[in-house]
Amino acid sequence: MTGTTVRSTNPAHPDEVVVEVPAAGTDDVAKAAQAARAAQREWRATPPATRAAALGAAGEAVAAAAPELTDLMVREVGKPLGEASGEAARAAAILRYYAQQVLDPDGETYPAPGTTLLMARRVPRGLAGLITPWNFPFAIPLWKAAPALAYGNAVLLKPAPEATACALRLAEILHESLPQDLVAVVPGLAEAGQAVVAEADLVSFTGSVGAGAAVREAAASRGIPAQCEMGGQNPSVVLPDVDVETTAAVLAGAAMGYAGQKCTATSRVIVVDDGDGFAGRFTDALVSAVETLGVGDPADDGVVVGPVITAPSRDAVVAACREAEEAGGRVLTGGVAPDRDGWFVAPSLVDGVPADARVAQEEVFGPFAAVLTARDADRAVELANGVRYGLAAAVFTRDLDVALQVADRLEAGMVRVNSPTSGVDFHAPFGGEKESSYGPREQGKAARDFYTAVRTITIAGGGS
Ligand code: NAD
Repeated sequence: MTGTTVRSTNPAHPDEVVVEVPAAGTDDVAKAAQAARAAQREWRATPPATRAAALGAAGEAVAAAAPELTDLMVREVGKPLGEASGEAARAAAILRYYAQQVLDPDGETYPAPGTTLLMARRVPRGLAGLITPWNFPFAIPLWKAAPALAYGNAVLLKPAPEATACALRLAEILHESLPQDLVAVVPGLAEAGQAVVAEADLVSFTGSVGAGAAVREAAASRGIPAQCEMGGQNPSVVLPDVDVETTAAVLAGAAMGYAGQKCTATSRVIVVDDGDGFAGRFTDALVSAVETLGVGDPADDGVVVGPVITAPSRDAVVAACREAEEAGGRVLTGGVAPDRDGWFVAPSLVDGVPADARVAQEEVFGPFAAVLTARDADRAVELANGVRYGLAAAVFTRDLDVALQVADRLEAGMVRVNSPTSGVDFHAPFGGEKESSYGPREQGKAARDFYTAVRTITIAGGGS
């Protein structure tokens, strides 16, 4: 952002400006909020079948635009082609899914005397303020906006500056099917986000722990509901009975895919040793698997690891490797930024750091992971849980008993058995524990709890 503009550039070719637009000021946000509120009053009164059809049409429009949206994601946030195309398809699926939710039951009835009806009905809350990160520039705005709209709310979306073009294009597509002013995108930095919190009736945030804490506090001071999904330091526990090559390949992808820039990326691989060299063998296989990942221009087929989003993000990965060495660890692979155009950094694995080293405790939002060793499954669980985060965690083993015992003790909102920590199912509840998350779950049917209020209604006959 320069002065009053927001600018995004291509992380693979930083000289290419993807978009430059004026940043929304406090007055712009207030104006958009006022218009959205007016549109919401009509939207909530619109017959449900009409609202469902409008959201369904938006889903079809996103599906039709998928190739173009894929290209935009590749250029604006450096998402590798295969993943970007998957996200475009998911964006359409989210809209189709919530289009159907419009027609779900909107409450319950309760026993009451005589002919009286006692019921609890779900009603929209009003204006939903959405503050989103850049890493899933269509899926995250939509997994918030689609349920907000389905349950009768209006939307004020403040996208991350790095993903401004994606958000503006999404708004254009939604405007083709939805009433004018019902969805407004307000580009900008933190100030625009703060203005959204000041205007909205509820706030759904996804991003870093620091920004999430600020949003949580601002929302609490206004007494409005808030939901904050934040960072992670996601562990994957590996038992010695696994198929080494297969598991190493899965974990390499979970840690380094999309250059590690997923909140659910694996950050720590915790290997349970068997006293017979398993930890060493597994670590070697993991290094090989990481080194065989396709690294390069995200627009090229087969690339799994593209650039990171900015120069500081690239430098943070290199710095984390130096810090690991200073803490007594080793850099097993990576640790350098190649001398080429774009914010590229080699996928980096370290081992030998103490469990309380900063790089094994805090999120490094890039292609970086630490390998830790545990003497047994109990110690592995202790290590896995020994961080302030609790977003996603995984265990890999062929022993069902061990899998169930470990999975039960992992402190995370999403627990995976023999599956990568990375990955989200839009039809299931999503969210973390500990400092990764605040407020109710999002996605799936859980979204209804957040985007609606419960109104308890008693209807008695006129003579009672
Ligand atoms: P970020 O926290 O820098 O920004 C997120 C959004 O918040 C942006 O739109 C930003 O402009 C806005 N913002 C920043 N400060 C604010 C404030 N004080 N008030 C209001 N709005 C403010 O995060 P980012 O760099 O865009 O995204 C990366 C982070 O997001 C990582 O920490 C990652 O783990 C996290 N993330 C979490 C999830 C999840 O579901 N848990 C999903 C994706 C990303």
